[in-house]
Amino acid sequence: MSHTVLVQWTITPTIAPRPWLACNRCRTTRPFQTSGKTRLNANGRRLDAWLIYRCGSCDSTWNRPIFERRHVGDIDQATLHALQNNDDGWIEKVAFDIDGLRRDAGRVEEFAEFRLRKTILKAAVEPAQHLEIALNLEMKTMLRTERLLSMELGLSRKRIAVLEQTGRISMTPSGKNALRRPVKDEMRVTIDLASEADRNAILSRAGP
Ligand SMILES: [Zn+2]
Repeated sequence: MSHTVLVQWTITPTIAPRPWLACNRCRTTRPFQTSGKTRLNANGRRLDAWLIYRCGSCDSTWNRPIFERRHVGDIDQATLHALQNNDDGWIEKVAFDIDGLRRDAGRVEEFAEFRLRKTILKAAVEPAQHLEIALNLEMKTMLRTERLLSMELGLSRKRIAVLEQTGRISMTPSGKNALRRPVKDEMRVTIDLASEADRNAILSRAGP
């Protein structure tokens, strides 16, 4: 018998990170954005694949390497199939791969915009007193946990700070300043709402 409501929040970032690159035509550094298109080039049995970005101000392009001079036998079938069919879902994953983009571009601008889907995994035995949120991230985001909780549960930063100081918010994995770090896949946040007068309102905002 548990007085905990367990919900799942699935977070999907909506704006792909943008590399800032020297644009030849603009003669200055500009943000480039993904065109959502890839280019595949064959040279005998060796293949090159790129994701095409465009300058935000002119039409100059930048080819971000997905792989270069790779033997066709060393490329897995799913990747090859995605590239040959311009698979949007697969291309999106590459576009949101911020670590890969950083390796290729250096300076990268990130965004915190996201879409959120809430589902209730387990209802509580009344009275509900605790809220447990299982986070599911489809792509990396710079969205901070504190901001997410504040926006989605209608709690002020100050109130979240009080809950934190009194040990009523806990996170796994835990860590110093965890609330002020970006949300991560498979993170769990538990909030003890037993002494919050408006807990039912908070709990209803946690669900769909
Ligand atoms: Zn330009």
